[in-house]
Amino acid sequence: RAKQDGRNTFRFFEPAMDAALQRRRRLEHDLRNAIRKNQLYLDYQPQFGLSEGQLTGYEALVRWWHPTEGEIPPSTFVPIAEETGLIVPLGEWILKTACTYALGWPSDTKLAVNLSPAQFKTQDVFDLVRRVLVETGLEPERLELEITESTILQNTDQVIETLSRLDQLGVSIAMDDFGTGYSSLSYLTRFPVRKIKIDRSFIDTLGTNEQTSAIVSSIVGLGQSLHVTITAEGVETEGQAAMLKRWGCDQVQGYYYGRPEAEVPANPLEDVPLDRNVA
Ligand code: C2E
Ligand code: MG
Ligand code: MG
Ligand code: MG
Repeated sequence: RAKQDGRNTFRFFEPAMDAALQRRRRLEHDLRNAIRKNQLYLDYQPQFGLSEGQLTGYEALVRWWHPTEGEIPPSTFVPIAEETGLIVPLGEWILKTACTYALGWPSDTKLAVNLSPAQFKTQDVFDLVRRVLVETGLEPERLELEITESTILQNTDQVIETLSRLDQLGVSIAMDDFGTGYSSLSYLTRFPVRKIKIDRSFIDTLGTNEQTSAIVSSIVGLGQSLHVTITAEGVETEGQAAMLKRWGCDQVQGYYYGRPEAEVPANPLEDVPLDRNVA
């Protein structure tokens, strides 16, 4: 009886699994053409210094507007791009588009761009970055590359080499989603990491969970001892902002301060909500 139920269950789910697989194949095919068809664009989310409330830069976030499926989130299509190798042309398009756009900002405004671990596996990231900086004319000091702990965990020697050369070029490295990975903190002594972005999942429960408050304030202290800039991502409330400011967190990014948007105001300093600064 149980066996029969199991078989029925299997039959019931089979078409659904098939549909998911087919959708994936379709997305993979469509993603191949998305750049050429102008379906991709970038949003930019502002980052602020917490003590003075000044705009420090923007993070570029890739978007895909699919003609029949509508908005497809990067959490769906970036992994597809990584598995199919499409991350190479996609990553190059993102970097070039963002650097070109950033040329229109005030010169003290930085640009942060996410790099996927797969990019380090499949291409010379240093060559890519240097080439794009030369082609666009953006100063290396204005570019910050966000990597994750999974990038650090793979191909250590090659990644150390690439990141060190980028650092020497003037490009800075930020550790994204900090606290969610499995790597040991020792990489902070071996890699030129200038910034740590505390993952949104920790900021989410600030104030409601004693443990996360302890973790976040400790990371802020770690940043101060190591002279690494600490950014909190996913700040959504005034309460979270107040705690971060009290602990001495350097920078903030999140819906409370500004959502990712396709167009950045011509003069961002006039138009961003600088009053969203907690006294
Ligand atoms: P991430 O780099 O950690 O980006 C931050 C994500 O948090 C973004 O989601 C952003 O929209 C979202 N976010 C920012 N503030 C808040 C907030 O206050 N509340 C909440 N709930 N969310 C907030 P998004 O744009 O969906 O991107 C998700 C992830 O996809 C990124 O995480 C990054 O890992 C990846 N991704 C996005 N753009 C790119 C890209 O250009 N290249 C690569 N390789 N990956 C990208
Ligand atoms: Mg990021
Ligand atoms: Mg992040
Ligand atoms: Mg995150």
